[in-house]
Amino acid sequence: MKSSLSILILLFATSSFAQSTDSITLAHFFETALTEDKAYSDLHDICKQIGPRLSGSDGASKAVVLVQKILHSLNIDSVWLQKVMVPHWVRGEKEAASIYYPGFQLKQTVPICALGGSIATPETGINAHVIEVKGLGQLQKMNPSDIKGKIVFYNEAFDQSYRETFNAYSKAVPQRWGGAMEAAPYGAVGVVVRSMAQHIDEWPHTGAMGYTDSVVKIPAVAISSKGAELLNESLKKEKDIEFFFKTSCQTRPDTTSYNVIGEIKGAEYPNEIIVIGGHLDSWDLAEGAQDDGAGVVQSIEVLRLFKTLGIKPKRTIRFVAFMNEENGGRGGAKYAEWAKTNGEKHIAAIESDAGGFTPRGFSLETNDTLRAYVQKTWKTLLDKFEIGSLDDVGAGADVDHLKGICPLLGELHPDSQRYFDFHHTGRDTWENVNDRELEMGAAAMASFVYLIDKYGLGK
Ligand SMILES: [Zn+2]
Repeated sequence: MKSSLSILILLFATSSFAQSTDSITLAHFFETALTEDKAYSDLHDICKQIGPRLSGSDGASKAVVLVQKILHSLNIDSVWLQKVMVPHWVRGEKEAASIYYPGFQLKQTVPICALGGSIATPETGINAHVIEVKGLGQLQKMNPSDIKGKIVFYNEAFDQSYRETFNAYSKAVPQRWGGAMEAAPYGAVGVVVRSMAQHIDEWPHTGAMGYTDSVVKIPAVAISSKGAELLNESLKKEKDIEFFFKTSCQTRPDTTSYNVIGEIKGAEYPNEIIVIGGHLDSWDLAEGAQDDGAGVVQSIEVLRLFKTLGIKPKRTIRFVAFMNEENGGRGGAKYAEWAKTNGEKHIAAIESDAGGFTPRGFSLETNDTLRAYVQKTWKTLLDKFEIGSLDDVGAGADVDHLKGICPLLGELHPDSQRYFDFHHTGRDTWENVNDRELEMGAAAMASFVYLIDKYGLGK
């Protein structure tokens, strides 16, 4: 009796000792990230020395060199580039658009931008009547004769009732991706898509759109949410209004680019890999600070924190700056293909691609047993640092390619309320990232990676 009680006491003491030493380590991650502010300074360099980094652009090439340089400065075990062929789409001249009120001989300009991947309009632009639909569902119920020769205006707004703005995005975004290919068979001449935004403002949001080979290609643009409101109001008053838009974008041949990779080798299980990362490419309208410079520098910061605090991981911690998430996902696909071919043993892959906002926890893509293990083992400790939200399902688009060879996929889950104020717009600049929120996210990632590395994923 006495001996089993002392074993119990010993066990309790050991586990609470482990909790308290882990708690001290996590606190150090936060203190160091917040006081040294290195991730924010890396983000400054990526945004201000380079700026926009769309796949195939000069900016993207320069970003590869810069991130490689930052990784070398960390004195980690290895740094290398992984070649990947990427699409090369260019926007061309600034787009123009206006609503024309024929009865009044009146023209009102509105902010638009071409959607990524779109073909250009003819040089003289497109001028046509407009038919408004709330989304793809409504279009499919329309009569082709109502659409033929017109511009389809997709005006499904974000559902404001969702607390998590990414859910509103997921609901509205099919009209952006599929709008042109769905409308073309009805005889539409172009599409105008309401920006994926929470607020009513003047910023058009770009983003990827798609075509299929079997359907004629028509140009697609995004209109600012304020422009969308105006167009909607105008159509209510006068069905005969016309819409004009002009774009000069172009798809060039695929070009060579790279994922940038750096790692700290594991001291005990070097063949077990924990991937961390974000995507290095960004849309071309601004600096890609929240999307996804933030994720790149936070992941670099994880390596730096391990080095600065002298923590030698048991497993290999591998950073990947993925290329081409925005308009192709080729970098993520390439990395996963390489990992499969080489039989690389991945135990976890955690990315950050939801903005540099205050972290809440992690969304996880895993089986029920592992989810239960993670929640049971680490939630209490993570909750102490207010990063214990582990219920959401999902992983980032780049690590998602590792499905099938990596049991635990995940993504840093920051507060989502302001992300779509910046996402894919001209406002996504370094000044619009808060340094403390960004660093908190980096420390959150370091904390989670530290626990996965130290304890593994159980039996
Ligand atoms: Zn992104």
